[in-house]
This record gives sequence, structure tokens and C-alpha cells, in this order.
Amino acid sequence: MSEPYDLIGIGFGPGNIALAIALEEMLPGVKARFLEAKPTANWQEAMMLHRANIQHHPSVDLVTPRNPRSHYTFINYLFENDLLFKHFNLGLEYPLRKEYAKYVQWTARHFDHSVDYNQHVKEVSLVGSDLGPQGYRVKTAEGAEYQGRILVLATGRAPYAPAPFDKLLSERVFHLNDYLPRINRLVEQGARRIAVIGASQSSVEILLDLCNRFPDVEPVCFIRHFSFRLKDTNPFMEASVHPEHVAPFYEASEEDKARINADLKYLNYSASDMDILKDFYLTLYEHELDGRKRVSLVNNHEITSAVQDGKSIRITSKHIYQHTQEERAVDAVVLATGFRDLGPGAHQERIPALLQPLERHLRMDARGVLHVNFDYSVNASERTGRIPPLFLNGLCEASHGVSDAGSFSLLSLRAGKLAQEIAQALDRKVTTPFPRARPKAEGSRKELGHG
Ligand SMILES: Cc1cc2nc3c(=O)[nH]c(=O)nc-3n(C[C@H](O)[C@H](O)[C@H](O)COP(=O)(O)OP(=O)(O)OC[C@H]3O[C@@H](n4cnc5c(N)ncnc54)[C@H](O)[C@@H]3O)c2cc1C
Repeated sequence: MSEPYDLIGIGFGPGNIALAIALEEMLPGVKARFLEAKPTANWQEAMMLHRANIQHHPSVDLVTPRNPRSHYTFINYLFENDLLFKHFNLGLEYPLRKEYAKYVQWTARHFDHSVDYNQHVKEVSLVGSDLGPQGYRVKTAEGAEYQGRILVLATGRAPYAPAPFDKLLSERVFHLNDYLPRINRLVEQGARRIAVIGASQSSVEILLDLCNRFPDVEPVCFIRHFSFRLKDTNPFMEASVHPEHVAPFYEASEEDKARINADLKYLNYSASDMDILKDFYLTLYEHELDGRKRVSLVNNHEITSAVQDGKSIRITSKHIYQHTQEERAVDAVVLATGFRDLGPGAHQERIPALLQPLERHLRMDARGVLHVNFDYSVNASERTGRIPPLFLNGLCEASHGVSDAGSFSLLSLRAGKLAQEIAQALDRKVTTPFPRARPKAEGSRKELGHG
């Protein structure tokens, strides 16, 4: 058992890296320990595909919106790595994902002293005396045990595997979170017919990757709709991830939240950017010119069953309008089917898996879903009365809106809010919550000829 910490953070992806920065800048001296299952900090490494780019403004990074003068900005990563001019010269609106992953790794390395890697948290429990729970005990699969007064859960959203594939998950049937290591191994072992499920940006990226890297692979893509959709990324829709929309979304009724989400769906989900759609269309056309149609698009189809048959998976699908049925055998299935949010639906989870054993101590809402406060904390159940501070970081899209989970949009501002809440819980004061503006030089605008 390690010494008790002020704070234990589970996961060291962008969410908790942004928190580590905020704590260093706003609450120095806090005794925090972050536990990360992977051997090093990384970002979406299973989808680090050739030429894949990021989906957000590069300066909406781990810190800039909260503190543009921080050491840990994307611009400073470029500067410190002697990449500034070369990067600017690329003229890219959206940098390559592999470059952004390097930025995330570069930032994470500054916090090596407060992270234990290769520690996969398996169990969280309350610790305390007769006076009630005073902290959390966290156990890892590797046999380590930690104690902290505050817990911040930032494990990223759980992958969603829809039926019937949820019962078939294996080396051959897997979520995109495992894409690169699995696909490389499977193709090496002779897999040729690869099914891709879904019509997301990741789905198109995976189809392109299969076409470009594996000339013998014949991908099959199953889509429930007419075809792939274009992302709704005009600036008016993009503005929905700005900070001023979090409070109104949080306060909206469940019915209104559903309406807002339906409005904003194609900003982020079940849709792709034009550049990769055009690239994929051109790829299919080139296959035709070459006289070898490699990709099958099974659109307007609902999958009705999938059965493991030796090394094959037999997928049966039904045409939504024509009601005809098709059966195809494939060697592997990649699920580009998204992630689970908190909620009562079949594609959601009522409570993050790690908190399930604590459920009776936590306040659940009328739907039986974990209630999350506006400040990302959760409350004790009536029966337990009080629990030590517990925060969710990056798991609150359902309660806080589209900007809050599956994106970098508000990660840095959320980290700032969490640092303030953590300061309060520890009865301490934050030092510089936000960068202090330098006093404006008197008459400077005039001197520059601005009237
Ligand atoms: C392919 C892909 C591309 C994306 N591209 C973009 C983009 O361009 N722009 C954008 O804004 N968003 C993008 N996103 C969303 C993006 O992943 C999130 O913005 C960001 O990664 C969320 O960070 P996080 O820390 O909350 O979660 P994650 O990045 O998922 O990090 C969670 C961390 O917790 C660790 N962990 C999980 N469980 C445990 C455990 N039990 N014990 C210890 N450690 C654990 C994981 O190993 C991981 O390192 C993309 C998502 C995907 C899937």
C-alpha cells in the first residue's frame, strides 16, 4: 500500500493530463498520483493511420483555452521541438493525428514523477472509520494498492459493441480501439475478408487503411443508411462546442437534451469529413479502372445475426426497404460503432464499470443512472449521506453536452474547473486560476495609428 495521496487520478489520457497541468499551474504542491494502464502516455494509438488528421483546432489543446501562456501549449511543443516553422510551412488547418499524439506524449513526460504506468485499475472502494468514508482505495491488476482523499475518474468512454457482435468479441471481432495491432496480426495470418461495421469517420478511415496497406484484403462495409454522411462542421454548428453552451445543456430536460443531440448528431457522429469521403470514393473508382472491385458496400442493411463458424464469422443482413436477406462470411469484424455515454439506453451505461461496486453509496437519478453535478462531482446516496470527493473527467457528454466527452473542445477549461473544486475540497486556494492580463500600455493603440 502506498502512502495516502490528496488525489488519485485513474487514466492518464488527455483528460487527466490536462488536469495534471491545471494542478501544477493552479494548485502546486498537491499530492496527486495518476494511474495509467498503458506502458506510456499515448493518444488513440490504435488508430494512428497514415495521413489521418485531428478534428479540432490545434490550439484547442490540453491547456491553451484555460492558459494560453502555459508551457504545455501545442505551439510551445512545436517550438521546443524545433518544428515551428516547418509546421507552419505545411499550411495545414488540422495537423496530423500522429503529430498531435507526439504533443500529448511530450506533455505527459513532464509529469512522469506523478504517474504510475502499467497500472490497470481493477477495483475502487471506500476507506474510512466509524466517522464515515474518508477516502478511496484503488487496486490494480498488477497488485499495487493506492489510497487517496479525492478520486478523479478519467478512463475515457467505454467502447460500444452492438448486438449481435457483443457476444462474439474475440481476436477476430473487435472495436476500433484495438484496430492497428489486431488487423496487422490478422492480415499476417491470412485474413482477407474484413467487415467494417458503421458509417463513422473512423469507419471510412479504416476502409481507406485496408485498401491502401493490404492489396489482398477485400473489405465489406455494413451501413444501415443510404450511404456515408458528411459531417456538419460549418462554423455555426461548430460553435455548439463553445463553453457558453455547457450550462444551458446541463439545465435542459432529458427531452430537450435529446432534441439538441439530434440537432447536433452529425457534427461528431455517424458522419465523415469531405477529404476522406472524396479520397475513399476515388479509391473505389480506381479499383474499377483497375478491373478489380475490392470493396463491398452493403448499405441500407440491418444486421440480423452474426455467428462464429470456425475462423469465419457469418453475417446475415436484411435490406431495410426490399426486405431481402444476404449472408456473407468474413475473416474478421471491426466495430466502428462508437462509445458508451452515461444513460439508461442499451448503447449506454448507467454507471462507469469501475464505480459499479460503489453504486449503493452513490446518488442515482430516477432512471437509475449515476447523477453527475455541474462541477463533475457525484453525490452520496441518501443512505450513505457523505462520500469523499469523486469527480468524472471526460465521461459526461450525456449530462454536459457534445463538447464534454468525445473531444478536446473543453478539456482544458474542465481541468481548470476541476482544479478549483479540488482546491476547495482540500481547503486550499488556487494560485492563478486564469492568466493575469498584462496591464495595457497607455495609449498604445493610438501610437499604432488606430485612432
Ligand atoms: C480514433 C479517434 C480519433 C479521435 N480524434 C479526435 C480529434 O481529432 N479531436 C478531438 O477533439 N477528439 C478526438 N477523439 C476523441 C478523443 O479521443 C478524446 O477527445 C480524448 O482522447 C479524450 O481523452 P480522455 O482522457 O477522456 O480519454 P482517453 O483518451 O480514452 O484516455 C483514457 C486513458 O485512461 C486509461 N485507462 C482506461 N481505463 C483504465 C484503468 N482501469 N486503469 C488505468 N488506466 C485506464 C486508458 O489507457 C487511456 O490512456 C478521437 C477519438 C477516437 C477514437
